[in-house]
Amino acid sequence: MSDLILFWHRRDLRIADNTGLAAAREQTAKVVGVFCLDPQILNGDDVAPARVSYMIGCLQALQQQYAQLGTQLLILQHNPVVGIPGLAEALNAKAVFWNWDVEPYAQIRDRAVIDSLQAKGIQVLKENWDQLLHTPTEIYSGANAPYTVYTPFWKNWSSKAKAIPANTLQPSEGLTVKEQEIAEKFGIIPLPSAPDLGFNWDGELILSPGEVAAQARLEEFTNSAINEYQEQRNFPFVDGTSLLSPALKFGVLGIRTIWQATIAALENSNSEEVTASIRTWQQELAWREFYQHAMYHFPELANGAYREPFKNFPWRNNETFFQAWCEGKTGYPIVDAAMRQLNEIGWMHNRCRMIVASFLTKDLIINPQWGEKYFMQKLIDGDLSANNGGWQWSASSGMDPKPLRIFNPASQAQKFDAEAEYIRQWVPELRSLETEYLVSGNILPLERRAIGYPAPIVDHKKQQALFKQLYQQQKGQG
Ligand SMILES: Cc1cc2nc3c(=O)[nH]c(=O)nc-3n(C[C@H](O)[C@H](O)[C@H](O)COP(=O)(O)OP(=O)(O)OC[C@H]3O[C@@H](n4cnc5c(N)ncnc54)[C@H](O)[C@@H]3O)c2cc1C
Repeated sequence: MSDLILFWHRRDLRIADNTGLAAAREQTAKVVGVFCLDPQILNGDDVAPARVSYMIGCLQALQQQYAQLGTQLLILQHNPVVGIPGLAEALNAKAVFWNWDVEPYAQIRDRAVIDSLQAKGIQVLKENWDQLLHTPTEIYSGANAPYTVYTPFWKNWSSKAKAIPANTLQPSEGLTVKEQEIAEKFGIIPLPSAPDLGFNWDGELILSPGEVAAQARLEEFTNSAINEYQEQRNFPFVDGTSLLSPALKFGVLGIRTIWQATIAALENSNSEEVTASIRTWQQELAWREFYQHAMYHFPELANGAYREPFKNFPWRNNETFFQAWCEGKTGYPIVDAAMRQLNEIGWMHNRCRMIVASFLTKDLIINPQWGEKYFMQKLIDGDLSANNGGWQWSASSGMDPKPLRIFNPASQAQKFDAEAEYIRQWVPELRSLETEYLVSGNILPLERRAIGYPAPIVDHKKQQALFKQLYQQQKGQG
């Protein structure tokens, strides 16, 4: 065995504050990175071009950082269960290290990789957590069970001490020329572009790829907008949120580094309002962890509803309505603005994610899994746990204690887009109309026809009544 440790990057596309990478460097001076382009993931039908573009950009930046440290980030296009142990064996590596993940596919895959590596006598770093401030088995209720409700989870989670950022990878030795040849024979390839992989994204990305850009965004946000987050986060036309979600999805920033930035912001706070805003942002980070813990403990969430009345719910699943929703042509301005934002920039404001998810499930009475998948096909930050959690919350099918939550699109617009600025930004044909029509959605048929904007595809009141009736029936059967 050589002294080489391969470090397998997955959703930790960074050098700094990476616990597994730091552990590898502590054991050897020869740390080489590897990323596996997994055909099973990339050939799936829920992959967003914006997400792949961002990921490839992050890998490019990471390769440069590895080169600056005197070593390499290898790119492998292979089934990881075969590719990772095979490459490690070919390079005579003494160990393969990686950070743990919560997703069901990752868990099954990782167990198979461990078995294969151990059969070859190659060491692994077991159960090393990096992407969470607290691991799923660290936060249990008094009954020693995982939480299914957020508020008590938050109380427990926020009371626990948080780790400080891990050491950053120090200069390392890379592969020798001979080892490089072996790696190439094994199937190491130059990093492809997103279009090479079949994903074309022409738009701008909401966050530039790589650690440097993510760090700069974190600093910018925690120096200013975080102070007004509590007030501003609900208005989709305002730049009131961090837009760090793609970096959090791919681990382009360490979660400990992010947490530390919030602590520094708290120390600089000079008012109760500012402190409350920063705490509110910390709570969003805790929502992220809550949903990841939930996915770890209840992997069946990935396959559908958690609550009984929704397990065999008689969804209407009208394909024409679904198409209109996807395209932002429902005749409900706030819903259409949000869906067009998603289609155009690969990201949607949180308030609007809740509005369109409620509309799909409660107004169109369409299975939330359809919406969940469409989001994954578009979102730059598409993440199984957060997306599934958001959809289950909006559909009322999840662990949330409030049984039915139905958003009225007009009231939402009145409250959160009162001047219809967001609606005008994303639905250009509505720009010339008066604000009150855009917010209420009551646009005269004559005007609709003149501007080519569709009539509402359903009636909110009627659908709300129908949904409630179906729900009561289901509950009766439960
Ligand atoms: C139906 C629906 C689907 C969603 N799908 C996703 C998804 O696929 N990926 C995703 O990252 N978020 C998802 N969210 C949560 C939330 O909308 C986004 O995290 C947020 O809009 C990202 O923008 P931001 O980085 O500016 O957030 P900020 O407001 O700045 O929040 C900071 C970070 O906290 C985390 N966070 C915030 N809110 C939530 C939440 N409700 N659940 C979990 N994590 C949260 C994110 O990592 C986010 O980047 C979804 C929400 C809903 C209602």
